[in-house]
Amino acid sequence: MSAKLILDVTIEIPKGSNVKYEYNRKTNQISVDRILFGPNYYPQNYGFISEALDWDGDELDVLVFADQSFQPGIIVPTKIIGALAMIDGGETDTKLIGVIAVDPRYKHVETMKDLSEHEFSIIKEFFETYKNLQKKSVSVQGFHDHDWAIAEYHECVELMKKYGKMDKDEFIALMKTEHPEKYSN
Ligand SMILES: [Mg+2]
Repeated sequence: MSAKLILDVTIEIPKGSNVKYEYNRKTNQISVDRILFGPNYYPQNYGFISEALDWDGDELDVLVFADQSFQPGIIVPTKIIGALAMIDGGETDTKLIGVIAVDPRYKHVETMKDLSEHEFSIIKEFFETYKNLQKKSVSVQGFHDHDWAIAEYHECVELMKKYGKMDKDEFIALMKTEHPEKYSN
């Protein structure tokens, strides 16, 4: 297993919230994108890594396991343990999975195997259903281990270095021609 990776995650959505807060890199502000249409609540804190750009044109997303809910804009040091591969609206939209790195209660958690399998069933269920009443489809492809997550992080850091200043729609259009495997119709 490659070395431990602790990253600063900027929280967008507190654990237990049904408000879909969204960060805008251009304006550097967090706004309310929508209230989730159905009876769903974020099962864990949800945020992003500011130095990593995902194929959907947004910062790389992270689910942060913690006992507390953290407010939008707060940075939580997070130990990365794995990832959930997803396609949302035809675009690769990976969710890294991590645990709070500054709570001794989570010190023993180093890999996905250190959390209860049921936690992952809850996450999978959430992402498979949270857009149902919006009539939008999300395809949850499956979980990956710590090494896969770290490789994904490094790939997205390179994307941010190269394309972070590019307009989001332009970025997606360019990537669809250069990396069609990351997109589906
Ligand atoms: Mg995303």
